[in-house]
Amino acid sequence: MSKHYDLISIGAGSGGLSAAERGAQYGKKCAIIESKTVGGTCVNIGCVPKKVMWNAANLAHGLVDARDYGFDVTNNGLNWAKLIEQREGYISGITGWYGNYLNDSNIDYISGHARFVDANTLEVNGEQYTADHIVVAPGGYPLVPELPGAELGLTSDGFFALKEQPEHIAIVGSGYIAVELAGLMSSLGSQVTLLIRKGHVLGDFDCILSDTLAKVLQDDPNIVLLSTTEVESVEKNEQDKLTLHCTKNQQVNNVDKLIWAIGRVPNTADLNLEAAGVEMDARGFIPSDEFEQTNVKGIYSLGDVNGKAALTPVAIAAARRLSDRLFNNMPDRKLDYNLIPSVVFSHPPIATIGLTEIEAKKTHGESVKVYSTRFNPMTHAFTEHTAPTAMKLVCIGAQEKIIGCHIIGPGVDEMMQGFAVAIKMGATKADFDNTIAIHPSSAEELVTMR
Ligand code: FAD
Ligand code: NDP
Repeated sequence: MSKHYDLISIGAGSGGLSAAERGAQYGKKCAIIESKTVGGTCVNIGCVPKKVMWNAANLAHGLVDARDYGFDVTNNGLNWAKLIEQREGYISGITGWYGNYLNDSNIDYISGHARFVDANTLEVNGEQYTADHIVVAPGGYPLVPELPGAELGLTSDGFFALKEQPEHIAIVGSGYIAVELAGLMSSLGSQVTLLIRKGHVLGDFDCILSDTLAKVLQDDPNIVLLSTTEVESVEKNEQDKLTLHCTKNQQVNNVDKLIWAIGRVPNTADLNLEAAGVEMDARGFIPSDEFEQTNVKGIYSLGDVNGKAALTPVAIAAARRLSDRLFNNMPDRKLDYNLIPSVVFSHPPIATIGLTEIEAKKTHGESVKVYSTRFNPMTHAFTEHTAPTAMKLVCIGAQEKIIGCHIIGPGVDEMMQGFAVAIKMGATKADFDNTIAIHPSSAEELVTMR
């Protein structure tokens, strides 16, 4: 006989966990089905391990800067194994905590791969489970290109499993993961070759961010940036070194590890969605409406799988609002996908919210006014290692309502959250100008721009 629930989440990642947690808080009987590890991508192979590595990379920069501030410090090298052990210990603490939390919250954790039997029934390891509401949140996995020798490369999943620091790492891609890994591995002392197929990194971002970061990457002595270059095939030699054969007859030799960072695809192929009548789009995403409802009543898709915005806080917020709507008599509760702030943990970091200048001009034409500034932050006033700062505000109309804010530089990762609140509340340039600056700081430039 099948076991019945009010809600079942497929996937114990950011989205699935949050929907079940919130449902359980309303006294509903919830279950989560997970084929790998509780916490999903973010905790195990995404945001969390990445941020630990980014923190380590910042410390490496700090050690260099410390000398220019008069400290007698020598960096005697990174103990990679110790860093990874500390990181994985931290992650085990989080996943262990989740196990207890689910237990205490009366949420059933079902270990295994879920497949639909019909619109209300899932099968896991030969057992059937039914639910009034099914949240499909299986996330995605990294794409590997189809070319000879591609399997010799790793993805971000494999990067986090590296037992030794590669001396020479080649990274293919130009998005979040590629620039984050390039920056942190260079800072940690590896030689990095970054291969981008077009002439830019972060092509969807405002040009003040992508241009500034591209220049930093070009100027970094540990990074070789090969632009408008595509890998055609990969070979391994007897010393286990990789050679990348690329367009324009270019070759990248002596590569210890190759990372494909060319985007992610949704984890939907093996869900047997047809049995429930749930539609996918051509790329395998499961579209959902503004209430995260798929084309089938009672089945919802959220997080990376719905293709709206692949960020952890988005998955969490959408899931919590869904359970509020289903179980707490809040029929209009839904996530507003406008003005989502985001940080790229590059070196230096990038923070962004709202429309780019180009997007704004396309939509609002002449009424767009842009303010921008560039400067060398005070932290680096007299250090040999520097990191530029650049900021842009995109405003519209006579009121100069701020519809975009794009910043790159040391500290912007922690700067954006507060500004995002103001912008989400409809702040104008005058509101920013009426706010007294905090001095001396980089953030003060955002309220003093002319
Ligand atoms: P996931 O977290 O991917 O969880 C889905 C879960 O479902 C997985 O555990 C999977 O095993 C399970 N599953 C799949 N199919 C089935 C099935 N049929 N049955 C049972 N279980 C199944 N976002 C940020 O906001 N900030 C960051 O700094 C950031 N850094 C990132 C760094 C990297 C390297 C990567 C890859 C991603 C990063 N992200 C970041 C994105 C973030 O991790 C995702 O947006 C987020 O994890 C999506 O949550 P989700 O619930 O949709 O899916
Ligand atoms: P992204 O979508 O960010 O970037 C991938 C880029 O790689 C594409 O935009 C494309 O850029 C380039 N590309 C695509 N195919 C190829 C190819 N065959 N060869 C070379 N380059 C190619 O993907 P990521 O994998 O970096 O990250 C996935 C998502 O995860 C992100 O979009 C983000 O939502 C989330 N994430 C968030 C993070 C954060 O919040 N800090 C960190 C990491 C991930 P182009 O067309 O310009 O060549």
